[in-house]
Amino acid sequence: GFNCGIVGLPNVGKSTLFNALTKSGIDAENFPFCTIEPNVGIVPMPDPRLDKLAAIVKPQKVIPTTMEFVDIAGLVAGASKGEGLGNQFLANIRETQAIAHVVRCFDNDNVIHVANEVDPRADIETINLELALADLDTVERAIQRLARVVKGGDKEAMATKAILDRIQPHLAEGQPLRSFGLDDDEQRQLKSFGFLTLKPTMYIANVNEDGFENNPYLDTVHAIAAEEGAVVVPVCNQIEAEIAELDEEERSAFLEEMGMEEPGLDRVIRAGYALLGLQTYFTAGVKEVRAWTTPIGATAPEAAGAIHTDFQKGFIRAEVVGYDDFVTLGGEQGAKDAGKWRLEGKDYIVVDGDVVHFRFNV
Ligand code: GDP
Repeated sequence: GFNCGIVGLPNVGKSTLFNALTKSGIDAENFPFCTIEPNVGIVPMPDPRLDKLAAIVKPQKVIPTTMEFVDIAGLVAGASKGEGLGNQFLANIRETQAIAHVVRCFDNDNVIHVANEVDPRADIETINLELALADLDTVERAIQRLARVVKGGDKEAMATKAILDRIQPHLAEGQPLRSFGLDDDEQRQLKSFGFLTLKPTMYIANVNEDGFENNPYLDTVHAIAAEEGAVVVPVCNQIEAEIAELDEEERSAFLEEMGMEEPGLDRVIRAGYALLGLQTYFTAGVKEVRAWTTPIGATAPEAAGAIHTDFQKGFIRAEVVGYDDFVTLGGEQGAKDAGKWRLEGKDYIVVDGDVVHFRFNV
């Protein structure tokens, strides 16, 4: 699956966010095959398009697509030196595909701050430093290993080592690799190292209920993110935790009262999805209407692989109706009548919202 690790200093609101995300309700019986650890939450992607499709197709079941969030607790200053749960923490983070970095942007005298003062810039630097030092460790080990191979004249090893030599000082200064300006080709060459500071990162600015505006802490996070080209999602985790406890009816009433169009969590989930470069396509049968996740740019067979590897291997063709056509023309038959039902082959690049039926050999 696609996943996003939640990191941040202690007491910034990570667990509050994680618990709200996991309570926001996934029907576990729809996912019988996954063994999930307590720090992994499968979170449904909010997508109003599913309801529109369901209203047309009237299926027995409606199943959203999902994303995983991993609660990675225990990062403290010194983690890269093995302090606290340091090494375990870094190993957990290495397995995630993107990072949601929670930053405390709220005052609360009852909640102790680890450094005695709310200071988003210092907090972000503390975490980024540990991640950069962990990457530095990886780089230095690799340089040593490659130095031996390079003597044998291995061209590829020489090219890789040359890049590592260049990024080493940047990391040694505690700077993340994402601000180094590696080009696509260099990033590809470094892919197998799984560098933590190259993972797509967003900042979750955890604010108080009244902290979305005129909040200098939040301004600081925006400024830092702008320097790095990162995304910021301001959210009040405490309110989200309260919203997640409510049933559907109470929830709408509460949101209306708060003047919110949707839970802030929906923005977090969508931002994580975007960070990973993902999009959604749909299958719409009378048994079930279902959303599926595929990377942006995936071909039809690759997208089919999200359903089952056999669909990918035995791919023959995809029958496709664009989402807007499907909805405005009242479903598959209407789309066919209007000439909007297409047969696509193995080179077809799936578009966000496509309603697809795969044909395949078994
Ligand atoms: P973690 O250590 O990062 O997982 O932090 P927690 O989620 O356990 O939160 C630490 C404390 O901060 C808890 O007492 C939360 O209730 C409180 N807290 C979390 N989010 C907010 C918020 O948005 N506003 C306020 N005032 N308190 C919050």
